[in-house]
Amino acid sequence: MITPNMNYAKLKESYLFFNIAKKTKKYLEENPDKKLLRLGIGDVSLPLCNEVIKALHEAVDDQSVKERFHGYMPEVGAQSLRETIAAYYNKRNVNIEADEVFVSSGASDELGDILDLFDKSSNALIIEPAYPAYVDASIMAGREIIHLPSSIDDGFLPLPKDDIKADLIYLCSPNNPTGAVYNKEQLKAWVDYANKNGSIIIFDAAYEAFIEDDTLPHSIFEIEGARECAIEICSLSKTAGFTGTRLGYTIIPKTLVRAEMNLNAMWVRNRTTKTNGVSYIIQKGGEAVFTEAGQKQIHDNINIYKNNATYLMEVLDKLGIWYCGGKNSPYIWMKCPNGMGSWEFFDYLLTEIQVVGTPGEGFGACGEGYFRFSMFGSNEDTKEAARRIYELLK
Ligand code: PLP
Repeated sequence: MITPNMNYAKLKESYLFFNIAKKTKKYLEENPDKKLLRLGIGDVSLPLCNEVIKALHEAVDDQSVKERFHGYMPEVGAQSLRETIAAYYNKRNVNIEADEVFVSSGASDELGDILDLFDKSSNALIIEPAYPAYVDASIMAGREIIHLPSSIDDGFLPLPKDDIKADLIYLCSPNNPTGAVYNKEQLKAWVDYANKNGSIIIFDAAYEAFIEDDTLPHSIFEIEGARECAIEICSLSKTAGFTGTRLGYTIIPKTLVRAEMNLNAMWVRNRTTKTNGVSYIIQKGGEAVFTEAGQKQIHDNINIYKNNATYLMEVLDKLGIWYCGGKNSPYIWMKCPNGMGSWEFFDYLLTEIQVVGTPGEGFGACGEGYFRFSMFGSNEDTKEAARRIYELLK
């Protein structure tokens, strides 16, 4: 009998969103007249911007005309989109070439697939609390995980420790769930550690477009030495509302070499074997995100989400409650008041003011006692939720 990948038996059931759904359903059954204000999920609520819609329509029409029809696309991405994304980095003085950009159907796919490049014996360092995919993809691949807890003391931005020997290092900045963002000096510490130890950083930049503070790095490649130790994984999901449309990109510098193996060349080989590329239509839509008009329109949407954050930040400031995120990120991570546990606070908000958030404990043990609010909901709901939170906790 064939033996399945027994690593799947080691996966822990994720009860987080299941429990949230169960609790809210029960509450609504018992209180049918109540309306919930949902600040829990990390999915976007605004539609794609006009520039993208226009490009998608044009690309659909192309597919109906023999002369403009596209069959298989290059597995690593359309050359024009690779050049466009490289130019997006170059504008910020980051030296990335088009053939260092790999177009993907999103960050989630890549965060797990990229593990193909590394020997099974290499371990993965994951900072807690964490986006759950890092842990689960590493478990499926049979890797040892080193959990590095973070806390209020380091602002949920821990730095490397010399006594920890990590092979792969997952960094996420701006972070989901905490909204915390590493500055250049802190990222330099990680890059120096990786170069000293021969490790590879997998830098998840899914929320880079939310950074408004000019001093903060959008990309690991803004840090000297990163071209020798880092891979960056990014997505248009939150940047441009592509959660249901699906497009992302991965940057692997040609200077990234371990044991005389070039990781860029290895990934070309991997993609040309394991994918047949992303659809022509979607890549055209993605390209429109990077035009001048596209950038303006997606930032108008991002500013609507950021505006949501200001309502809640104002209230938490007034209440004197510790939090991080919000300013350079679509998430706010707050300390639960009066020593409450994450789920206790969840129940309290649900039953007292009908506000739904996400208990921090669901992102790892050290998230206990914290709570995540997502700013991707509607303006009115977020404003009303902030008002109710103030009235409840003042
Ligand atoms: N990385 C982080 C930190 C995320 O929060 C998410 C989605 O919520 C992803 C990656 C996945 O992005 P995608 O939709 O491109 O798969």
